[in-house]
Amino acid sequence: MKKIIVSAIVLLLVSCNCTKKQTQEIAQNQNTKTAKISFAKKYANTITAKEMKTNLYVIASDKFEGRNTGEKGQKKVAAFLAKKYQKMNIPSAFGTENYYQNIPVAFFRGKSKHDSENVLAYIKGIEKPEEVLVISAHMDHLGVKNGVVYNGADDNGTGTVALLEIAEAFKQAKKAGKGPKRSILFLHVTGEEKGLFGSRYYSEHPVFELKNTVANINVDMIGRSDTIHKADKNYVYVIGADRLSTGLDKAVTNANKNLKDFTLDYKYNDRNDPERIYYRSDHYNFAKNGVPAVFFFSGIHKDYHKSTDTADKIDYDLLTTRTQLIFYTAWDLANNPERIKVDRDGK
Ligand SMILES: [Zn+2]
Repeated sequence: MKKIIVSAIVLLLVSCNCTKKQTQEIAQNQNTKTAKISFAKKYANTITAKEMKTNLYVIASDKFEGRNTGEKGQKKVAAFLAKKYQKMNIPSAFGTENYYQNIPVAFFRGKSKHDSENVLAYIKGIEKPEEVLVISAHMDHLGVKNGVVYNGADDNGTGTVALLEIAEAFKQAKKAGKGPKRSILFLHVTGEEKGLFGSRYYSEHPVFELKNTVANINVDMIGRSDTIHKADKNYVYVIGADRLSTGLDKAVTNANKNLKDFTLDYKYNDRNDPERIYYRSDHYNFAKNGVPAVFFFSGIHKDYHKSTDTADKIDYDLLTTRTQLIFYTAWDLANNPERIKVDRDGK
C-alpha cells in the first residue's frame, strides 16, 4: 500500500512540474489521507465480539422479560444502557445526569400501559458541534406472551449492543485527541415494536434540531443471516442510503472498502420491495422529515418475532464485522470536511 502511494506521489511530481510548495502540499495531502485511514481503522479494531456477547447475553436473558415497552424489562434495559454510558464517561444528551427522554403514556395510544423512555448519550464534536449524526437502535421487544419470554436477541439486542461498542470506540478516539468533528447522538429508542413510537417521539421532540442533523444511521437486527446468503454470510442489507443523499450512499460504500470480501446487499432498497422493509424501522421517522437515513439489517430468519430469538443463535463474528462497517460509515459522516448534502428527492 505504502509503495503504491509513494509511486503515485513520484508520478504526480514528474507530471506537474511542481514548485517546491506544491510538492510539499501533495506530500502532505497524501500523509493526511493515510493518517485518516489508519485512525479509523485503529478505533474500528477496538470493536470486538467479547463485550457485545457479554452485554447481549444480559439484555436478552429472561431477567429482561422481553423488554416490552413501558414494562419492567424495558425499564431494566434503559437503566442498563444509562449505566454503561455513565461508566464509559459518555454524557447524556441533556447535559445532566439523566439519559432519559421521557415519553408520556398517552403518546402510545393504548399500546403501552405506562410512560416509557428513549436513552440518549452524546459525544460532542470538536469542530462542528452543532452538526449532529444520530445513530439509533430500538431497545424494546415483544415482552412475555402466555408465560413465554421473547428474548429478542437479534431483534434488537444486536443493534443495542453494537451502539454501545461504537460509542466506546468514538470515546477512545476522543480521549486520544481524535474526537469526531461533528457531534454524535447515540439514540436508543423505545416502542419500535408497537409502531416506531420512540423514534417518532424523538423526531417530533428532537434534542438537536433536525435541520442540524446530518444523517441517521439505524441498526436493527444485524446478528444473523438469512437463507438467501447461506453460502456466503459476509453481507449486510443496506436500505435507504441513496434516497435523500448520494453522499450518504457513498459514505457506506467507502466504509466497506475497509473490510475484506464483504457484500453490501441492496435487495430491500428496491422501491418495489413487497416487504416494504424501508418503512419498517426507526430510520423512517428521520427520512420522512428529510434527514438522510440508512438502515443496516441482516434479514429475516426462522426465529424472527418468536421466543426462539435467543443469544446463543447470534453469529458474533458477523455481528462484529457489521458493527465495524457501521462504525466506519459513522466515522466518515462525522469527520468528512463537507457535511453530506440532501440532493435526492427521497423516492
Ligand atoms: Zn426490530
